[in-house]
Amino acid sequence: MSKAILITHPDCLKHEMERHPERPERLTAVLNRLEASGVKEEMNQLLASEITHEQLQLAHPEKYIKSIFDSEPVGKVIKVDPDTYMSEGSGRAAKLAAGAVAEATMRVLDGETKRAFCAVRPPGHHAEIAESFGFCLFNNIAIAANIALQNPKVERVAILDFDVHHCNGTVDIFKNDPRVLVCSSFQESLFPNRYLDFSNTHILNTPLAKGTSGSHYRERIESEWLGKIQSHKPNLIFISAGFDAHKDDPLAGLNLVEDDYRWVTSMIVDLANTYTDGRIISVLEGGYNLESLSNSALAHVEALISS
Ligand SMILES: [Zn+2]
Repeated sequence: MSKAILITHPDCLKHEMERHPERPERLTAVLNRLEASGVKEEMNQLLASEITHEQLQLAHPEKYIKSIFDSEPVGKVIKVDPDTYMSEGSGRAAKLAAGAVAEATMRVLDGETKRAFCAVRPPGHHAEIAESFGFCLFNNIAIAANIALQNPKVERVAILDFDVHHCNGTVDIFKNDPRVLVCSSFQESLFPNRYLDFSNTHILNTPLAKGTSGSHYRERIESEWLGKIQSHKPNLIFISAGFDAHKDDPLAGLNLVEDDYRWVTSMIVDLANTYTDGRIISVLEGGYNLESLSNSALAHVEALISS
């Protein structure tokens, strides 16, 4: 078994918008931190390739895909919805972000490795079936989960999302697919407040009050997620790894610290060792304070690549 995968691409930096929190420096900060700590050297570093059109269609209709690529501006920045922008290079960055997760998933399923971290942007978990949303163009993790489900050995997957924002897009895409358990912890009443359905048995929402501490967060995750994941018995686990629930993040009001990300990742690793033969694909979502983002991502990756 080879080393855990770290997959990224420098052209993910070409999706660039002035004074926007979802900025290229986020990705650079994460990669620099992984490098400075020595963790990067312990991983098999891969360059992402672009997702194929057919793979994008696993989560989004053709009309929507075309509208995104047709929107890409030349030499300026445009808004495709109130929060999501595109620059020259955004289309390529989006294809590489989704392509990274697709490739990591295929390599894990091929048995090359058990763990992968996809350091990519734009993020994906707010992208709905046919609407860009919340800095997201295509739903990277949903596309990869659907690629995995095409493998006859994968009957059920779990998508575990600890970004501070609810994963409306991932829920939209899988709301009628009970093969996919979606667990989302998020700050209540915060953006985006869409597809927030508490009656769907394969969608588990864990809303957290503003100011929630790490210890309360851990209690909630243990009491609400563990049993649900154990009864779903996924063949593969995906993580939407957003780090904006950190106490220093400027976009939200939860009080997690680096060690909470290490804790939740270790819990997921234990579950993976029981149910998925250890296989986990983790994908970067949010996190907007460069210091807390990069330190939290390091804690996450260190726990992810441990046995
Ligand atoms: Zn977020």
